[in-house]
Amino acid sequence: MNDVRKAYGEIEAVKGVSFSVNEGEVFGLIGPNGSGKTTTLRMISTLLRLTSGSINVCGHDVTGDPDKVRGVISYLPEDAGAYKTLTGRAYLRFMAGFFADGEEYEKMVDAGIKLADLGDRIDSKVDTYSKGMARRLLIARAVMPSPKIAIMDEVTSGLDVINAYEIREIIRGITKKGVTVLLSSHNMFEVDMLCDRIAMINEGRLVLTGTPAELKERYGAANLEEVFVKAVKG
Ligand code: ATP
Repeated sequence: MNDVRKAYGEIEAVKGVSFSVNEGEVFGLIGPNGSGKTTTLRMISTLLRLTSGSINVCGHDVTGDPDKVRGVISYLPEDAGAYKTLTGRAYLRFMAGFFADGEEYEKMVDAGIKLADLGDRIDSKVDTYSKGMARRLLIARAVMPSPKIAIMDEVTSGLDVINAYEIREIIRGITKKGVTVLLSSHNMFEVDMLCDRIAMINEGRLVLTGTPAELKERYGAANLEEVFVKAVKG
């Protein structure tokens, strides 16, 4: 993305941000609350119009060719929910119907069920799921169509250690299959373990990019949390 700006009326949420994500990597977007991460991810996902600048996703411009962009990405919002009255299986079948039919459809549903890894509970209604189970179902929904780029906003927030760990394992697994992942997170431990490269935004501006190791060295910091605090507070 190149010099991207987004204003909501008087509020300029994103103030000229440029960065690029390499194919096959896990790229983490970090920054304090309200710094513009969700706004940035929503613009990349074609859900929000840019005020100015440009974003190119796999050769397609988000403004000029949003349908092409939608064809190569999947976006999992922070506050995503599944239809509560459906079972997990019925939800995956319903969602797969937007992407495929026939044999390909059945394969996609099977892949989703495997990714969700909910055992017998795949046939329980979504409103009986714990937060972790619901999140696994949503990740499975986002990943089963094999997007080129999976965009995930705070995908492990509020999850227990095991669920967060298993979701990170799913993310690692899909990158091995060639999916590029762009995620936001407030968990610096997670970002350090999972991300190949990181961009940090603060008050709508890009303040740093690099690999976790580079950033720790640059700031003389023992961990990314220290990098974060130094970058924000100076
Ligand atoms: P968090 O970590 O808390 O989720 P964030 O980094 O994702 O925050 P954004 O949600 O992108 O931040 O918000 C960036 C700024 O834009 C904030 O000042 C926010 O209040 C503002 N903003 C976001 N959405 C809207 C909207 N629909 N209308 C007006 N202002 C908005």
